[in-house]
This record gives sequence, structure tokens and C-alpha cells, in this order.
Amino acid sequence: MNINPYHEHRQLLIMVTRACQLDCVYCQFDRTRPAMTKDTLRKAVDLLMTARHPEVKIQFFGGEPLLRMDLVMEGVSYARAAAKRAGKTVGFIVTTNTFALTDALRAKLDAVGVVWILSFDGDADTQDDQRPLRTGGTKFGSAFEQIGKIARSGAPYLVNMTVTPEHADDTERNALRLLDAGVGAISFGSRMGTDWTDECAVAYFRGIRSFLEEARRRGIKPFVLNPVGRDEPMIVSPTPNVDTDGTVYTGSVIPSLEKLLPSVVPIVRLGRLEEMTEFEQLRVDRAELWRRMREAVRGTPEQAVVESGLRMGQLSNAFFDRMVERGLCPGPAVPLVPAPEETADA
Ligand code: SF4
Repeated sequence: MNINPYHEHRQLLIMVTRACQLDCVYCQFDRTRPAMTKDTLRKAVDLLMTARHPEVKIQFFGGEPLLRMDLVMEGVSYARAAAKRAGKTVGFIVTTNTFALTDALRAKLDAVGVVWILSFDGDADTQDDQRPLRTGGTKFGSAFEQIGKIARSGAPYLVNMTVTPEHADDTERNALRLLDAGVGAISFGSRMGTDWTDECAVAYFRGIRSFLEEARRRGIKPFVLNPVGRDEPMIVSPTPNVDTDGTVYTGSVIPSLEKLLPSVVPIVRLGRLEEMTEFEQLRVDRAELWRRMREAVRGTPEQAVVESGLRMGQLSNAFFDRMVERGLCPGPAVPLVPAPEETADA
């Protein structure tokens, strides 16, 4: 799976649009703002080309980026030319909720050689409950069919399954539904923006373990990103993200939770594209970010949500270490970032 460990600092998320056809229960995102302009898109690509790494990656992100295929394809062609001038190679990742996917669109992006990140939460009951269409009704069947087609096509992909506390007991069933459709590469994410109880957290991790054990019984060892990507806690993700208006953030979580965590937005805001001359300026000290985020929300209503996100990330790291030790999923590529209180000088 062609996903970079966080420490490599060579990947830029570009949010081409905030618009989306869904209304996910966990989305705390203003989806009404205008899409990115081509000028901003080009500036974002130019900044990435100043990265030290010779192989850079662009992750198209939203909202739903496939609603603005014109911007995605503009980004691809501009980045290829810019990479050639800079003596680099550039790869592309598309994160999609799959609802706009068609055979023709898939073929077009496969021809580009994209890595697919498909956000999909499992079976029809869970998916329709957590991720209703904004216009009502369901398109589960056609979206799920596209996931199966990608999984069987040989294209690089990953299904990102978000689990909410309300559906924590369904974790195993939902992951097996994906496995039954041919999905062999998966990433598990506990819903952020909520306060997980111990009971729900236990149900979530127990469900993943049962899924991995059942896969082993079937003779399948799925690729699981969590112990390899090392991006937990996601709430302090260090992958830079350019918003539609040219604001640069670290990670994509806070724009997604901007309505819920207004105190945290300034902490993860790195500046404006026009202020940046080097991609290195976007590199963050993750432990310091963690410390500042905690400080910003102390004593506010946001504190419980932030602490829960950090705790679930830590629990996830410890859990997947055990799964790797037991041979249930592949091992880590890089060491974990320590929590601030565990560092020598914190
Ligand atoms: S979480 Fe993503 S897919 Fe869901 S409504 Fe928000 S932008 Fe759309």
C-alpha cells in the first residue's frame, strides 16, 4: 500500500471543494464555502514541489473531491509538469465517499494511477444510518458495487472505515461485510468529535480483533493501515492540508470538526499559502502540537472531545501493536510519536 508514514513529510492534502452529497453524523464541517480556485490549487502544488523529498504525493480531499473532477484533473496535469521541472516524481491519492463514482470516472482516475482511499463504514444499515444522502434516500448499492470493483481491479486502494460509539458493537460485522466484497486493505478509525465511553471503546477494539481472527480462520491476512501508517492520534495528524481558500492546516481533522472545536482551529492553522515559501515551513512538532491543543481546550466544553480523541489514538496504537505481535496484521514501519508527558523535556 502506497501510503507514506507520517514522518516523511512529502505529502500534501488539497481540499478542492467543501461540497458533499452526504450528511454524515460525524461531519462538523461547513460545506457551503466556495471551491478552491485554480490559482490556489497551483500555488499549493508549487509549495509541495519545494519539499526536500524527491518523491512527493498529493492527496485530493474534500468535501467530496469527485464533485470537482475538473480541479482534480487540473491538479494532476499541473503537478506533473511542475514535478518534471523540479526533478521530482509525483503520485496521487484520491479520498472519496464513493457515491459519485462511476465506471467511467474510475477508469479515468485509474489511468492517472491514483491510490484510492474509499471512506465507507460497512453494511447498508450502518452506512445509511451514519452517512445519509443530503437529499434523502440511499445509494448504498451502487457505491458498494464500486468498492468491490476497485478491490478486485488490482488498483492500489484502502477502505477507511469509521466506527461511531453507536455502532461499536457492529465493528466486526461491518468489516466482514467489506471483506466479503473482496476488500483486503482497510484502515479503522474511531469517530472523532465525540466522547467515547470505556464500554464503547472496548466494543470497538474487540470487534476489530474478532474481525482479524475471523479473517485468519478464513486464511486471509488483510492489510491494515493503522500499525503501518502510524498517524494516530489523528487529531494531531502532521500531514499538511490546504483548505479551499488557501489556508494551511496541519491534518484534516480540525477543518472536519471546525464547528465543534473552535478553540483548536487556531492551534492547527499554519498560515496562508501566500505566506509560505518552503514546504519545510509546514512541518510540525507533533508532541508540541499535542501539548498546545490540550492547553487550548482546558476547562472548555471542547476538552472532553479532544481528550477522548487523544486517548482513542493512544489506545489504538497499543491495540495494533498487540495485533502485530500476534501476527494478525502487518507490522509498523516507524516508531510512534510519544505523548507530551512521556517526553524528556515536557
Ligand atoms: S464526513 Fe466527508 S463524506 Fe461525510 S458529509 Fe462530511 S465531507 Fe461529506
